[in-house]
Amino acid sequence: MNMRTLREAIQKSDNVVFFGGAGTSTESGIPDFRSARGIYRGATESTASADLSPEEILSASSLERHPQLFFQFYREHLIHREALPNRAHQVLARWEDRGIIRAVVTQNIDGLHQRAGSRCVHELHGSVWRNYCQGCGRRYTLDETLGIPGAIPRCAGCNAVVRPDVVLFGEMLDDSVVEAAIDAISNAEILIVAGSSLVVYPAAGFLDYYRGNHLVLINRDPTPFDRRAQWVFRRSIGEVLTELDSG
Ligand code: NAD
Repeated sequence: MNMRTLREAIQKSDNVVFFGGAGTSTESGIPDFRSARGIYRGATESTASADLSPEEILSASSLERHPQLFFQFYREHLIHREALPNRAHQVLARWEDRGIIRAVVTQNIDGLHQRAGSRCVHELHGSVWRNYCQGCGRRYTLDETLGIPGAIPRCAGCNAVVRPDVVLFGEMLDDSVVEAAIDAISNAEILIVAGSSLVVYPAAGFLDYYRGNHLVLINRDPTPFDRRAQWVFRRSIGEVLTELDSG
């Protein structure tokens, strides 16, 4: 099916859901994990001495056993304060304003959808902008948490480690966020899936809840779900969404 048919379907719809991954933010200068320029390829230097893979370092057990290494890697590779929303985030925010987008479900932790103006955003993996004390639960901003370079962040009240409100490898997703995401996807008329290698479960399993016949996949590399989609674009998300927004 062609671009024009899809553009018309989107412009007429009031129930488009966007399900995005790290590729949604690469055009903002934030590397993804698994593509050629992703964090997994570039991270070997800082992890080689520890002999741990990025997934091991970004795990709950590493936060507990190697907090120094965890925070060093986390700061270096996952914190991008200077990043701004790109044209993909902006198109989605505009579509929500126009009543086209019902929800954005994201695996990203960078908060760029909200910065672009999207309001209904289900963050499956949490956000780097929220942090809390593992001991007493006190909340901290990103600046308060990572303000002192090289330090393991500690609670001013109880001295326990302050951690990001991000789902680490080996941790469960938040039930209420999962429920809201499944509800949006299972009732969507059009589902646009973009910028995810779709190999991380349970996030990739969310696609199974879609019951419609307008599945759109935008991803530079092939994914295990390409054959299920009615539209597959192997190019830039910003470019494709801009084209779908025009005319
Ligand atoms: P991934 O790295 O496994 O896959 C990203 C996919 O996006 C790749 O297949 C790549 O081909 C594609 N891609 C990259 N840039 C693109 C572009 N501009 N246009 C079209 N396609 C593009 O990402 P994932 O499946 O989301 O899994 C990574 C996990 O790591 C996520 O769960 C996420 O929480 C986390 N992560 C988040 C960020 C962020 O918040 N920005 C960044 C890196 C990783």
